[in-house]
Amino acid sequence: MKLIFYIDMNAFFASCHQVIDPRIVSKPIVVSSQSRRAIVASNNYEARKYNIKTAMPLYQAKVLCPTLICINVNRELYIEYSHKIFNLLVNNFTNKVEITSIDEYCLDATNIYLQYNNAFECAKAIQNNILNSLNLPCSIGISYNKFLAKMASKVNKPLGIFIFKPHNIKTKLWPLDIKELPGIGKKTTEKLKNININTIGDFETSTNNWDLQ
Ligand SMILES: [Mg+2]
Repeated sequence: MKLIFYIDMNAFFASCHQVIDPRIVSKPIVVSSQSRRAIVASNNYEARKYNIKTAMPLYQAKVLCPTLICINVNRELYIEYSHKIFNLLVNNFTNKVEITSIDEYCLDATNIYLQYNNAFECAKAIQNNILNSLNLPCSIGISYNKFLAKMASKVNKPLGIFIFKPHNIKTKLWPLDIKELPGIGKKTTEKLKNININTIGDFETSTNNWDLQ
């Protein structure tokens, strides 16, 4: 059986800016464009304490937190750090790594995890290596396939590690909101909620009733 790690960088854009400018560490920051209609592209965990969310209009975020620090989007910076993380994973752990988005990586740990005793310790070693070498936090989800590993990476943030095994899928995956499923956007979420499918568990039980013949 495969052992898949899904690495999701925490507040990635904001974290990259904190790496190159230590003065803004521990302060509420958002990354956005400078236009009048700017929206929040990334927010760090300090900004989230003020209820600031991504895709929120910047002016609204400033109302919620008057001391908010707004930083210009810098795509080259994120790409540079995304490559650094990829290289670190390949050089120190395994070349079975796939970049799934600018701040997410899927790693096949099947052949390496036993060097660290178990899957959790292996994930911890990866998480610590990225944090100590690049100063960037990540959460790691572990499971038997990419989908479950990705879902597991959402359970503990920031700097979390979570493992989906058959025994905890019903208690931990099923209660999550349907919008957490990859591929389910705003409109589909609305449609599903209209027919009373609110959680991933609801979806699972409702598909059991489908007549597939
Ligand atoms: Mg992320």
